[in-house]
Amino acid sequence: RDRAQNFTFQTEVNRMMKLIINSLYRNKEIFLRELISNGSDALDKIRLLSLTDRDVLESNPELSIRIKAEPERRLLHITDSGIGMTRHDLVNNLGTIAKSGTADFLSKMQDAEKQAAQEMNDMIGQFGVGFYSAFLVADKVSVASKHNDDKQHFWESDASSFSVAEDPRGDTLKRGTHITLHLKEEAADYLQPDTIRQLVKKYSQFINFPIYLWASRTETVEEADEDAADDAADADDDAKVEDAAEEKEKATKKTEKTVWDWELMNDNKPIWTRKPSEVNEDEYTQFYRSLTKDSSPPLAKAHFVAEGEVTFRALLFVPRVQPADSFNRYGTKTDHIKLYVRRVFITDEFNELMPNYLAFIQGIVDSDDLPLNVSRETLQQHKLIKIIKKKLVRKALDMLKKIPDDEYEHFWKEYSTNIKLGVMEDPSNRSRLAKLLRFHSSSSKEMTFLADYVARMKPSQNHIYYIAGASRAEVEKSPFAERLVKRGYEVLYLTEAVDEYCLSSLPEYDGKKFQNIAKEIFDLDESEQSKEQLEEYKKQFEPLTKWLGDKLGAYVTRATVSRRLARSPAALAATAFGWTGNMERLAMSNAH
Ligand code: ADP
Ligand code: MG
Repeated sequence: RDRAQNFTFQTEVNRMMKLIINSLYRNKEIFLRELISNGSDALDKIRLLSLTDRDVLESNPELSIRIKAEPERRLLHITDSGIGMTRHDLVNNLGTIAKSGTADFLSKMQDAEKQAAQEMNDMIGQFGVGFYSAFLVADKVSVASKHNDDKQHFWESDASSFSVAEDPRGDTLKRGTHITLHLKEEAADYLQPDTIRQLVKKYSQFINFPIYLWASRTETVEEADEDAADDAADADDDAKVEDAAEEKEKATKKTEKTVWDWELMNDNKPIWTRKPSEVNEDEYTQFYRSLTKDSSPPLAKAHFVAEGEVTFRALLFVPRVQPADSFNRYGTKTDHIKLYVRRVFITDEFNELMPNYLAFIQGIVDSDDLPLNVSRETLQQHKLIKIIKKKLVRKALDMLKKIPDDEYEHFWKEYSTNIKLGVMEDPSNRSRLAKLLRFHSSSSKEMTFLADYVARMKPSQNHIYYIAGASRAEVEKSPFAERLVKRGYEVLYLTEAVDEYCLSSLPEYDGKKFQNIAKEIFDLDESEQSKEQLEEYKKQFEPLTKWLGDKLGAYVTRATVSRRLARSPAALAATAFGWTGNMERLAMSNAH
């Protein structure tokens, strides 16, 4: 047996612990969520391994999490039969911050340290603070862990340093991890069965492994009472039947017995495998929260079974808020879809199930048609993955289309750029995405969908007119817009940088082509008479247009008489295939 070896925590761990303790003192209860979630991750890992190597489960076929309180010693035990940790794992995983995500989080938190405590809490809530949250409630934490590839080892810490040794008790666990929290005096409430049940329900009810609590219940046992039975037999023959019955009742003695047993605390049937009609809104919201750690309910959700080339179940959500730095990470970020095959969690790191522009969608996909006994790499290449993605995108777009009007405003504020990028990046769904677009318009203060624009078009109008600029006020004043608007045409005002690019990649909507009115317009519905008049004007003003053309020679293609203006004497228009002033403005500002 080796002697316990002492270690100091990596500096980041110390910082992390300090941060957790300082900012989560009002939210201590999340420690249980974190430890259960680690147990569940460890169970997922061994189950995933067992798909390609059945033998790994031989050490212990059961996959569960068990919680036991010892009030007299103020100990709380959380045991899982997951993958366990080798000595090496214990030192590395419980002594350093191995995950880059956590390190990022830490640096962000330090930037945020001056911010309001509430914001800090929100951030921590979204990241999941991990194992070290145990020290919110415990002054000492012990971890015994048994990995298939190593002897059982014992890790212990009082938060200032930690020790690791081969477990002197031997391999008491068949496989997995047993965490013992030596609870602080003020945390004694976490020993109460009701408190534990309530926390599991609040944070961990959707864990896909059974979570048991070692709990007592009172059972009433009926035992034959010999004396009373004799009395009954001796009873007067004349006694009424009822009396006899009463005597007989007395003859069985009811005793209350306390029975200790493992009580199942969660319904570990995955919510997405249930029929949508049998899941209520509240359950979806709870599930969404446990999936994302978002404190708000989702903006939209879709729960469905897809059938055909591939059968799968999926549950998708739109979060109310998109993380502020989404676009900085655009294209490098993984999607937020967890892939399950036959209820077994496979990965959330494929990044193959949603396109970049829909990376904000959170959810779960579970298919019976994918192979289980192949490596993740092989699975990632599987041809069905592409088909699943295609269907998921369709369903996701359906879900967005169904967002009711009163919520759509909010959706559009949060995600309009995603949808516009989608129009540019996803040709196969372009027309579906176009239905989601909204723009400012000359006809209303509210933004308008293209379908509504088309419905309002003049009978003779063939094009959807738009103009792009930096703001609504700017484009409203544009000489290009003024005459069209005056003549009763509706003009879309594109005021976001991405708008003009977006519409340039959209060939048409509902059979109507788009016309950027800052470019030459060919099709204004002119009567024969006005065409003749225009020709006349052209002749009449030829000296002027020729003079202008010469003067501006290097800067313009030509100067011409136009009927597009109402109040302004002149306007600078782009050629049909040239860049508009707005495009130039954007290109210039991008170059800076
Ligand atoms: P995270 O779960 O985000 O990785 P944690 O701080 O919760 O971060 O856990 C750190 C690491 O410690 C985990 O990634 C895992 O490798 C290991 N670990 C923690 N708890 C367990 C457990 N019950 N069984 C196996 N490994 C665990
Ligand atoms: Mg964790």
